Amino acid sequence: MDNNKNVFDNVLQLIGSTPLIKLNKVTADFDGDFFAKVEAFNPGHSSKDRIALHIIEEAERRGILTPGDTIIETTSGNTGFSIAMVSIIKGYECILAVSSKSSGDKIDMLKSMGAKVYVCPAHVKADDPRSYYQVAKRLHEEIKGSIYINQYFNELNIDAHYSTTGPEIWDQTNGELTHLVACSGTGGTISGIAKYLKEQNPNVKIIGVDAYGSVLKKYHETREFDDKEIYPYRIEGLGKNLIPTATDFDLIDKFIKVTDEESAHTAREISNKEGLFVGYTSGAAIQAIKQLNEEGEFKPTDKVVVVFPDHGSRYMSKVYSDKWMEDQGFFDSKNEVSSTIEYI
Ligand code: PMP
Repeated sequence: MDNNKNVFDNVLQLIGSTPLIKLNKVTADFDGDFFAKVEAFNPGHSSKDRIALHIIEEAERRGILTPGDTIIETTSGNTGFSIAMVSIIKGYECILAVSSKSSGDKIDMLKSMGAKVYVCPAHVKADDPRSYYQVAKRLHEEIKGSIYINQYFNELNIDAHYSTTGPEIWDQTNGELTHLVACSGTGGTISGIAKYLKEQNPNVKIIGVDAYGSVLKKYHETREFDDKEIYPYRIEGLGKNLIPTATDFDLIDKFIKVTDEESAHTAREISNKEGLFVGYTSGAAIQAIKQLNEEGEFKPTDKVVVVFPDHGSRYMSKVYSDKWMEDQGFFDSKNEVSSTIEYI
């Protein structure tokens, strides 16, 4: 098919080559220029399309996946959706073990993409047999001809971003970017992009965004796993209660922690001010930039790229629900008008 005429053989050909969009309002008062890599433009509406396609095609190349086989994964939602989408086109069964913290919308979406979903309790330790890691491992052992993507411990997760997202950002900025800011969950996005960018220019500063309640920042600073850092938080897809090998901590210059509340307000602000309907972690990433700006991180000549990992439609029952925001107490401290709807 002629991709130049926007005609494609299937939806998978649309993965990657996402736009870089200048932010004109949310960062207007800050030193430097800010650009968002908007991953919602992938057909599965998140950056995870890239790793799903890359890991599955690599398994095919290595001869460990043939049509009719089963693909298993643990996921906060986005990776599962992308794997389910790729599985449909390529003819695989898809089984997903997800955290009960994931929104109901996300779980329904996975079902709509033909996946079989196991919902596992969110606040149990990773080695608990009910955790989504252990459930996925058990299913993988039980089901013949299955592969377990295991995105937290799969080096191909880094590789997917090293071979696509990194080069795209370098090219889109003509190699002029000074900072890259990205949320870290598995760490595949930030590590893969960082690896490519630092090879081109070791001075590009790589800043990871972590959640309060996650171990990543502390581990980065001390190289020690401190389970006292772990407690429940609301942002999905950001931070972790274990140390993923898909994160290359040596490539990250520093981590910034952000709160659930400020990240939620900032996601809504991005939608309102930029017309970009983005997910919760995009709010977290801009919240981190606000904090970095206050710390004096940026100069007027800086060019900063921030990754927006997914689309706001995935958070209708959370960040974009006034009721949910109120229930979390997020409107109290900000004294914000909760709704602009008028009922006639
Ligand atoms: N934001 C969202 C919404 C995600 O689902 C994820 C993936 N867990 C991330 C950010 C972080 O990306 P990565 O896993 O590549 O670190």
